[in-house]
Amino acid sequence: MTHADVTSPEALAGLRRRYRQERERRVRPDGPRQYLTADALPGDHAEDPFAPDTAGREALHDTVDVAVVGGGFGGVLAGARLRGAGVARIRIVEKGGDFGGTWYWNRYPGIHCDIESHVYLPMLDETGYVPEWKYAPGEEIRRHAVRIAELSGLREDALFSTSVTSLTWDDTSEEWIVATDRGDAFRAAYVITATGTLSELKLPGIPGIEDFGGRTFHTSRWDYAYTGGTPDGGLTGLAGKRVGVVGTGATGVQVVPPLAEAAGHLLVFQRTPSSVDVRANRRTEAGDIGAGRPGWARERRDNFLRIVSGEGAEADLVADGWTASAVLLEKLLPSFRRSGDRAAFERTYEAADAARMEEIRARVDRVVTDPDTARKLKPWYRYACKRPTFSDAYLQAFNRDNVTLVDTADTHGIERMTRRGAVVGGTEYPLDCLVLATGFSVGVSGVHSGRLPVHGRGGVRLQDAWRQRGPRTLHGFTGHGFPNLIHLGGAQSASSVNFTHVLDEQAVHAAALVAAAEARGAVVEPSPEAEDAWLAVLADGPDHEWFHAECTPGYYNAEGRGRPNGPIAYPHGAAAFHDLLRHWREQSLHEALRPRTSPRPHASTPGRGISSPPDA
Ligand code: NDP
Repeated sequence: MTHADVTSPEALAGLRRRYRQERERRVRPDGPRQYLTADALPGDHAEDPFAPDTAGREALHDTVDVAVVGGGFGGVLAGARLRGAGVARIRIVEKGGDFGGTWYWNRYPGIHCDIESHVYLPMLDETGYVPEWKYAPGEEIRRHAVRIAELSGLREDALFSTSVTSLTWDDTSEEWIVATDRGDAFRAAYVITATGTLSELKLPGIPGIEDFGGRTFHTSRWDYAYTGGTPDGGLTGLAGKRVGVVGTGATGVQVVPPLAEAAGHLLVFQRTPSSVDVRANRRTEAGDIGAGRPGWARERRDNFLRIVSGEGAEADLVADGWTASAVLLEKLLPSFRRSGDRAAFERTYEAADAARMEEIRARVDRVVTDPDTARKLKPWYRYACKRPTFSDAYLQAFNRDNVTLVDTADTHGIERMTRRGAVVGGTEYPLDCLVLATGFSVGVSGVHSGRLPVHGRGGVRLQDAWRQRGPRTLHGFTGHGFPNLIHLGGAQSASSVNFTHVLDEQAVHAAALVAAAEARGAVVEPSPEAEDAWLAVLADGPDHEWFHAECTPGYYNAEGRGRPNGPIAYPHGAAAFHDLLRHWREQSLHEALRPRTSPRPHASTPGRGISSPPDA
């Protein structure tokens, strides 16, 4: 089919109808309620299979300068940037048994980052580390988080296998009291929350799932004792076994090829197919990527962000499937942002989208030999309705004799589980093992959900304050009534597909706030007027909701219901947001500070770490 065939007015109208039908086929009345939390099922679904034995540590009642909740890239980068700003006692509190966050938990076979390693791994300039592959395996990424933490001297004070259970502001001493599930109740002048946005695993509420007699586990708690092998393969425990996978998102697409290699028979229970583009992973020479030159990684990362944010750049340094789809990623290009001509934008956007998705569907036909399987593997929705995926082995796996695709779209997923296996369309598929690649709940682990109670000035509960008036922050980081509490990776800031870049910019910003407060004997707390001004900026942008409202259900759009009310992100993209923050730090940082009522009880002496000024 030519570009004109796909983008003619008739073709676009037909496509719109098809997308609407496919969406309607998939929306479930129970929406997000279809999922279960890990503790809703008997078994060990949430347990940490990777943790060293940390039982028996003494509860802590001491005082630190900064407590960081979460030891993923957000927390580690916050720690590293605070160290760079001279903060001495930094305590990261982490639920997992080590640093790494999502890369600690997700160790499933085949795991790689789908963003180029040279822009995804943060602090490459500072650590001198150069990844070998264009797309790095998960273990290399996890080790890099550990590297940054150790070079920044963050291990000694860190608490692992520990969850923060409450944060309470002490009005008298102007400190936070941090309580944990291990009996700790220590004090911190500042708290940074870096709890991740997709860290609470979710299980499918398939009727009878608790009756299944085989082994079941979520991809973020991989059971290598059962499967054998490592993330690199060698899953000898699955030889001769019938293995089912539920979920064909970014995780499912990565885990299917190694399972297909290892299992006696693999059944892939698909509800909505992913868009699967070319991966072309390869070893990279330092020369190819300009490594070694001072600032090479920062320059490459900025270039990628500008392109995927729709800002454009003279050269495309990364040149992969993300940058090729830049026009479709942030939905609204700067020219349209400025001109406000939505109709013109939508026409251009829809045609580009149709051509891109047609390429992706044509690839399925080229790769998959069985026409019926190929038909079922084709995605019928707009690009980036679901997170785009990339693989040179996923579609190919369906050409193997031991792999069966079971389409469950008409029954909204597996109908029910029995003791022996899964039932779809009245047919029972016997299974020895069911792997759940069913993803994560959005934002539930953060302070926004109320799972981590936060009591600010005067004992006011953050979640109550936000329930009454809606979330209120300055730049997504800080809020009135909650002094010296800084959120990373949350709502009302900006996001991007390269999330570690976002987190690093936010870590730099958090460190600058702390450094400024220390230098001026102040606390970090914006006025209500500064919050109002920021909310007005958020509200004064183009509306992205039309896009999500027309998409197939998934976690991007609350399972087809559209996004929650109210602006949740800076509307002009992450690159523009970072520019705004830099400018604000130079001109207006005082807006987020107010004087302390009494001097801070203990002084900080600079700590050891990777030397980099916060605004490097
Ligand atoms: P997703 O939420 O993206 O996908 C979950 C999958 O499970 C979907 O295919 C969903 O189908 C399916 N599913 C859920 N319930 C059922 C059911 N009852 N029956 C059949 N299918 C079901 O989770 P992922 O873990 O794949 O990805 C989550 C996010 O993690 C990604 O979007 C990305 O942000 C991140 N990630 C990043 C990677 C990287 O390389 N950077 C790699 C992997 C993940 P349906 O679509 O119909 O709801």
